Amino acid sequence: MYQYQSIQKFHADIAQQKTSCLSVTQYFLKNIEDNKRLNAFVEVFSEEALERAIYLDKKFASGLPIGKLFGVVVGIKDVICYQSHPVTAASQMLKGFNSLFSATAIEKLLAEDAIIIGSLNCDEFAMGSSNENSFYGKVLNAIDENRDPGGSSGGSAVAVQAGLCMVSLGSDTGGSVRQPADFCGIVGLKPSYGRISRHGLIAYASSFDQIGIFAQNVPDAALILEVIAGSDDFDSTISQQPVDLYSQTIKEEFSGNLAYFPEMLNHPSLDTELRASFFILLEKLKLQGYNILPIQFDYLDYIVPAYYVLTTAEASSNLSRYDGIKYGHSTEQQPEDLADFYTANRTAGFGKEVKRRIMLGNFVLSSGYYDAYFTKAQQVRRLIIDKTDEVFTQASILLMPTVPSPAFTFGEKSNDPIEMFLGDLYTVFANLAGIPAISVPLGKHSNGMPFGVQLLSKRFNETSLLQMAQTIYSK
Ligand code: GLN
Repeated sequence: MYQYQSIQKFHADIAQQKTSCLSVTQYFLKNIEDNKRLNAFVEVFSEEALERAIYLDKKFASGLPIGKLFGVVVGIKDVICYQSHPVTAASQMLKGFNSLFSATAIEKLLAEDAIIIGSLNCDEFAMGSSNENSFYGKVLNAIDENRDPGGSSGGSAVAVQAGLCMVSLGSDTGGSVRQPADFCGIVGLKPSYGRISRHGLIAYASSFDQIGIFAQNVPDAALILEVIAGSDDFDSTISQQPVDLYSQTIKEEFSGNLAYFPEMLNHPSLDTELRASFFILLEKLKLQGYNILPIQFDYLDYIVPAYYVLTTAEASSNLSRYDGIKYGHSTEQQPEDLADFYTANRTAGFGKEVKRRIMLGNFVLSSGYYDAYFTKAQQVRRLIIDKTDEVFTQASILLMPTVPSPAFTFGEKSNDPIEMFLGDLYTVFANLAGIPAISVPLGKHSNGMPFGVQLLSKRFNETSLLQMAQTIYSK
């Protein structure tokens, strides 16, 4: 039976004619069917994935040059547009909507001969940390089906965890790739802000959003990044910095200082087993000769509030386009007037968490509170960015846990939004600062669940990030 290991191994098998695009696509489609109860997929593009596999096999047989992602089977989060395919952000608001164009990341995957197998479940408009806020229902963690897979890209994480595709794309505004990767025992990469085009990514909070990558191993993530990163005329916030050949540079040895914030490790919400594992890792790295610097960090209590003030503000603005006229769900009832029409559409179309955030965002932007909340949070963001610049003059990689606890059971936190928000303590930092971060598996908790460790680097230093990640997790 076919067992997926890595893109490199798959390509070696293709070269030796041990497998074909068609047979691996059939294998993944069967796995998807057999694991339907996990609820990872919103739509499976079975017919066209098979057709594309046949086309790619013919291309290979005819000796034509093949792309870097030849036959690589990819799943995409239901917030990424793929022309003529449904995209709904797991919301009733966009039910029945088909993309008019493809995201740049999707165009780049296809140009390198990837196969897109389907769209993946997530929290509505990427708002959440447990995938319990989806219009399509929750996604189950394949290691323990009573536990959540993390969010908001829970479907993308489970699809890779359970072997339903080779790699997947998610989006990360405050941890939605790294946190579910941690909960599912896989690799999750959030690149620098501006590394991958956001064109065709449904917006949550535009100055935080970034497409991210789920993979079984670090080299797979490096190769996908190499393909989808880079400049794009359709995204004015994209960087013009050249893209490294990450799949090659990752093979070079990393050298540089490592750092960590002791305040983050002393936080009361951090599970004791996770804390112990983190320090064991530091000891191991010291023995390998790494210089590890403890650096003081005074803003720990401010990062989650600053994140939620700024992202809800941006979300309330971004989501105002879903009014049932230009976009989205329209009520069948006869409205009294325009305001009544909007209210009916938005009341029925949005779920509870999205409404909560629209209200929070409007509140922090309202005239009487703007300076007290929005301006203050912008100032905190500036302090975080300055602190980050300072840290990376002393060290190349910053290490911290990815999440304070392993995956929780369904319902454990969903009734207490503040508690859920506080779980984002370690992931929002990278999005506030715009820097890249990756979560790689580190250990297994006594409750049987995996957990990871997070690495962060200077903006656009994905090469060092991937090299060090590979040192820690060389699967
Ligand atoms: N859990 C965070 C939130 O709910 C992160 C979401 C994300 O990264 N999309 O905002």
